[in-house]
Amino acid sequence: MTTMLTKGPVAVDKSGTTTMRALIKHHAGPELQYVTNRAKPVPGPRDVLIKVKKVGICGTDRHIWEWDAWAAGRIPVGIVTGHEFVGTIEAVGSAVSKYQPGLRVSAEGHTTAWKDYNSRTGNAHIASDTKIIGIDRDGCFAEYVCVPEENVWPVHPAIPDKVASVLDPIGNAVHTVMAAGVSAKSVLITGTGIIGLMAVTVAKAAGAGRIFATDIDPKRRALAKKLGAVEAFDPRDNAWIGEVRKACRGEGADVLLEMSGASPALDQGFEALRNGGVAALLGLFKGPVTFDINRLVVFKGCTVLGINGRKMFETWFQMEELLLSGKLELDDIITHEFPLDQFKKAHETMISGEGIKVVMNVGA
Ligand SMILES: [Zn+2]
Repeated sequence: MTTMLTKGPVAVDKSGTTTMRALIKHHAGPELQYVTNRAKPVPGPRDVLIKVKKVGICGTDRHIWEWDAWAAGRIPVGIVTGHEFVGTIEAVGSAVSKYQPGLRVSAEGHTTAWKDYNSRTGNAHIASDTKIIGIDRDGCFAEYVCVPEENVWPVHPAIPDKVASVLDPIGNAVHTVMAAGVSAKSVLITGTGIIGLMAVTVAKAAGAGRIFATDIDPKRRALAKKLGAVEAFDPRDNAWIGEVRKACRGEGADVLLEMSGASPALDQGFEALRNGGVAALLGLFKGPVTFDINRLVVFKGCTVLGINGRKMFETWFQMEELLLSGKLELDDIITHEFPLDQFKKAHETMISGEGIKVVMNVGA
């Protein structure tokens, strides 16, 4: 297969098409617009052009859909949204040597120029110049997406498209679980939304001891138990904190994975964590929170980890190994698929809670 990259201002495929179907943030307000005439992106010398097959709708996409304060302050109007996908390389820039058209790939959505301190010392996921596809630059809710060569992740043939389209959030769960270290430890997961549920199956696969979970939704609690939690509690009744402490030598869980972004869950999670425990925080809070840091962190002697994105590319290798082990149970988490032009129904299914992880089919 030869590259279909042209040197002109727009990319042209075999049929001569220079436009594509896409979902764009068309105004500074809610929802997205489906268009059929978006200019097809043109890869720069070090970029890879990918024909998108399936995309995942993220919690972040919900913020963009609803146009909350975060989205209004961050998302450029006119952008193509979406950052979770699998597709096939269509064309490569002139300086790309590692990849060829035809390869099935996903990609790390955080891009960097690889010049700052963190990206040069193994922590590119927290680079100071990070730009995220579908947030700061055009994303993947479209027939084609362009990413830098360094961001491409070739997908193992044994990993199905449906799973490959949501490697981004699985990677969040893997990063959190591996950063905290769960092997032979008691683990408390506060919040079993999409990534919290993924964290249950990832923690189990990574050798956790007993896993405890909390969520206000009874369906999510039931699913957390199906995926391997020994107990799942409704956090609105504080009694569960005593039950977790009692179950764990009367002292509390070894590890806390905070996945809810709800401030009561932060207090409860640290209450239920033992002295000297490790807390990995992934959930994003609506704004600054009030928190008793003296009692719940300093005197407890806890280690607190902030988790952002996925380590490039340690997390991706760990995730691939966990997926190939067959130990991750994702079928009950990826609940719905819709064609791209049913984007409204797809977003509503995710937002209403009827679906958990919702995938949209873009192309063949
Ligand atoms: Zn995501």
